[in-house]
Amino acid sequence: MTEVIPDNTIRVLDHGFVRLDDAMADDLSVVNGARVSFARRKTEMDESDEGLIRFLMRDRHGSPFEHNAFRFHIRCPIFVAREWFRHRIGSFNEFSMRYAKATEDFYVPDADDVRTQIGKPGAYTFEPVDPELAEETRRELAALYDEAFAAYTRLVERGVARELARAVMPVGSYTQFYWTVNARALMNFVSLRNSEFAQLEIRRFAEAVETFLARKMPVTHAAFVANDRTAP
Ligand SMILES: Cc1cc2nc3c(=O)[nH]c(=O)nc-3n(C[C@H](O)[C@H](O)[C@H](O)COP(=O)(O)OP(=O)(O)OC[C@H]3O[C@@H](n4cnc5c(N)ncnc54)[C@H](O)[C@@H]3O)c2cc1C
Repeated sequence: MTEVIPDNTIRVLDHGFVRLDDAMADDLSVVNGARVSFARRKTEMDESDEGLIRFLMRDRHGSPFEHNAFRFHIRCPIFVAREWFRHRIGSFNEFSMRYAKATEDFYVPDADDVRTQIGKPGAYTFEPVDPELAEETRRELAALYDEAFAAYTRLVERGVARELARAVMPVGSYTQFYWTVNARALMNFVSLRNSEFAQLEIRRFAEAVETFLARKMPVTHAAFVANDRTAP
């Protein structure tokens, strides 16, 4: 599991983070969501409740996993956010480059993360490139980011509206957003994005998100893992 630093934050990539802003989430909420069918309510988990959660996960009784909420604050490159926003079950609010000045933070991958893709669409494998190309990639990106940000600043200073000047900003620039989501949709996200098939960058964020799921709902998380990481 990824290291959690104070303030419930996990740093991701060069300038990003996942911060759990707040949560109303525990394993009991799943148990009570299911046991209300029999007009029963528990205040403490016992072994039978753990068994119930494993059963609900295995047999894909999904709705008891919806009686909770995780509110995350995330900072990530725009191209990661675009993939993230495809997950419709959840609520988002994002930093606006219409109302605020763009930030000067851009994603430059570590040399070890610069890769080449081999194979066909849907079946790519990714291999490291040689160190020289890795460094050249990092230099090219940094130079382009500098140029883009300088153009953005020039335009804004000469009076062009931020909403238009932002058109020069690359998708490697950082954005931030709030994301509120229940455990069922969170497991769907983690299943798809903390996966070997997902792009490396969003995968790092999904790992961080999964750390918080495991902390808040350990029995649910263990059942999810035991169920081949398939969301109910
Ligand atoms: C490796 C990978 C590659 C991808 N490549 C592409 C790509 O090339 N192009 C592209 O456009 N997208 C791509 N996607 C995005 C993908 O198609 C999904 O849009 C995204 O992963 C969100 O998944 P979801 O719909 O399960 O999640 P959510 O939107 O959070 O939905 C959760 C669940 O709710 C249900 N649901 C939500 N909305 C509906 C609905 N309208 N109708 C019926 N059921 C619904 C479904 O059961 C769904 O699984 C890719 C995703 C991954 C993981």
